[in-house]
Amino acid sequence: MNQTVPNTTAAKRPDPPPTSGAFTVARVFGIPIRIHFTFFLLLGFLSWLESLQRGNVLLELAFIVSLFACVLLHELGHALTARAYGIRTVDITLYPIGGVARLSSMGKPHEEFWIALAGPLVNVAIAAVLWGGMLLLTGRPPTVGPLLSDDFVQRIFLANVLLAAFNLLPAFPMDGGRILRALLAQRLGPVRGTRIAATVGQGFAVLFGIIGLFTLNLLLILIAFFLFIGASGEAAIVQTQDVLNGARIRDAMITRFDTLRHGQVLGDAAELLIAGTQQDFPVVLGDQVLGVLPRDRLFYALARDGRDTYVSEAMVRDFVRVAPDDDLTIALEHFGSSRAPLLVFDGERLVGMLTAENLSEFLMIRQSLTRSSAASKT
Ligand SMILES: [Zn+2]
Repeated sequence: MNQTVPNTTAAKRPDPPPTSGAFTVARVFGIPIRIHFTFFLLLGFLSWLESLQRGNVLLELAFIVSLFACVLLHELGHALTARAYGIRTVDITLYPIGGVARLSSMGKPHEEFWIALAGPLVNVAIAAVLWGGMLLLTGRPPTVGPLLSDDFVQRIFLANVLLAAFNLLPAFPMDGGRILRALLAQRLGPVRGTRIAATVGQGFAVLFGIIGLFTLNLLLILIAFFLFIGASGEAAIVQTQDVLNGARIRDAMITRFDTLRHGQVLGDAAELLIAGTQQDFPVVLGDQVLGVLPRDRLFYALARDGRDTYVSEAMVRDFVRVAPDDDLTIALEHFGSSRAPLLVFDGERLVGMLTAENLSEFLMIRQSLTRSSAASKT
């Protein structure tokens, strides 16, 4: 599998934090290789299971480790192909269900096509080498027989065939979903391409879910759930990126707002709050911005200190400043974790303000406009 970090301006800012619960165990071609702790739980569980069945624990562990080496090679297939197109891999994380290579961007459709295809091709290549090797050495090549065979090579061969086949399913977040999206995007553009690919993916998820329920196959039901969530998430990311496409802070900010002078008191602030819809008030001294007085802070200070306290005593001093030409994705990330308004400065001059409400209004307006232009085209 591979996954795009949902961040259109990844080049400008630091990488998103690594997945928690995973440790970096090595670096290959400068890419951190991380293993999620649940992988070790799986190893422990399987060796316990095997010891109950009096199987060969060491052989079982060797099989799992070889299997994960194949998964790692699959992810390196994605990462190195991405590198050939100048796309960086943030890290590769191995989970019990497989691996994920996080790429800094998804590239152009034809690049995404080859990056996604490279992973399953690695497994096809490993299977081909095993097949050829066994044929030469023993005269009996491995077959697509039962997975629970005792033959080590036979099992690794089959695992690689399954890895390639499963990853080529045309459903997000499998590689096949990305290949389908890349093919569709070349003709229909990324948003429609993703939407159709996501719908196909959800169709597969529903199909697997139904088969899983009828055959009482828990694994299939889990896979169905995983595919369904993956498809919806991918569609949402691309849609937001499309809505935000090229938008700047100045497009969404409010330019008409009240400020408090630093000599005013909380009573003045309370009157301003009641008189309008504004909830956060910049506190200024001449042209200089000293801080912001948000609504909850005002209530708190009113209750504790009374209405004659200076606003400068209650305000928040460390506000977040942005420039009018900054990318609007900055605001999206900021409001993902904070309610504090963004103050927009042109040089040292306060020219606007942006709150979570402004941003969501802006997104809704953009989305309506995209829909109406799409409707008028069809
Ligand atoms: Zn893959």
